[in-house]
Amino acid sequence: MLVELKKRLEDLQTEMVELRRDFHMHPEVSHEEKRTPEKVAAYLSELGIDVKTGVGGRGVVGYLTGGRPGKTIALRADFDALPMQDEKDVSYKSKVEGVTHACGHDVHTAALLGAAKVLSEKREELAGTVVFIHQFAEEVSPGGAEAMIADGCLEGVDAIYGAHVWSENDVGEILFQSGYTMAAADTFHINVQGKGGHGALPHLTIDPVVAASQLVVNLQQIPSRRVDPLKAIVLTVGSFHSGKAANVIPDSAIIEGTVRTFDETVRKDAEKMITSTAQALEMQTGASVEVTYHFGHPAVYNHPKESDSLKQMTEKHLPSFHVKEMKPFMGAEDFSYYLKERPGTFFFVGGRNEDLHANFPHHHPKFDVDEEALGTIGKVFLLTLKDQDVID
Ligand code: MN
Repeated sequence: MLVELKKRLEDLQTEMVELRRDFHMHPEVSHEEKRTPEKVAAYLSELGIDVKTGVGGRGVVGYLTGGRPGKTIALRADFDALPMQDEKDVSYKSKVEGVTHACGHDVHTAALLGAAKVLSEKREELAGTVVFIHQFAEEVSPGGAEAMIADGCLEGVDAIYGAHVWSENDVGEILFQSGYTMAAADTFHINVQGKGGHGALPHLTIDPVVAASQLVVNLQQIPSRRVDPLKAIVLTVGSFHSGKAANVIPDSAIIEGTVRTFDETVRKDAEKMITSTAQALEMQTGASVEVTYHFGHPAVYNHPKESDSLKQMTEKHLPSFHVKEMKPFMGAEDFSYYLKERPGTFFFVGGRNEDLHANFPHHHPKFDVDEEALGTIGKVFLLTLKDQDVID
């Protein structure tokens, strides 16, 4: 059946491109998606797939039950866009001011709909059930994955697979990694409360600028001096706000940062070390310090069995593609929540093509991909089902 389905997916390329461009022209930011889930639900219903809407909020889940018994396999695509301007010069440019699909979630959604269409045409021959998880709000925390899981989207599911188009890699490349692949992303907000006064009379004040500056430097000793160098951690202070005038010592300073880790123990230790490092400032400077720590998405851990098996399957059945290893990196993805609940893997499909000006990084105002990636994602989704014996 696989050969036939692959061929059918190739015939659908134009339709998938149209779908993708439609989503691209009408992007919606996280937690505000309306048109997109409606369109997804209508498309799946049209195919005769059972559809649940409003899952966890704005998610859509489709159930395609085959004519023969077998496993229940979930395939997931996210559909939210980013609050930034589209600066590409293309016919399918975003029609919404200040919102654009600069991460390729439109591509994931169209590819999964294409896969759903070809599978629905072979419903009777499928052994098991395919669950199409169309997720809202991937770009933020808290996001859609947790909410959809809490609302039961993984009930009865044996394994789950997700895809990301990847502009760092050329179109024609498919990348797999087993084990930790993307990082946990946590954030901190630290308020350093001092006592303001005249810039010429520092001894009568508690200077929060000096105290917070010291804290920024002290925090860097956590990754460099306190965590095992063989365990990955990034600590970035990305925001520092204080003061308005050159000769005034302000009352307070606020710093915010992100912490990226793979290992769960390192992750928890980092929170303790950041909090205690910040609190130590109180004794040292007299300022009072308040730390707010937010645990965001956990790390993406690709299950070795499913990852290796899908990689081998891809090498065998898609020989014209370059199958590679994805290098783990410190970006984050809420697909991690599904992989904490069920076995599966998150794979990457190259989308870079300089000839099409598709060579900008994700979240760049000119981000775009070669739409050949649509069919490629669709094909790897089919291979997950082959690997799980839902199709033969
Ligand atoms: Mn993304």
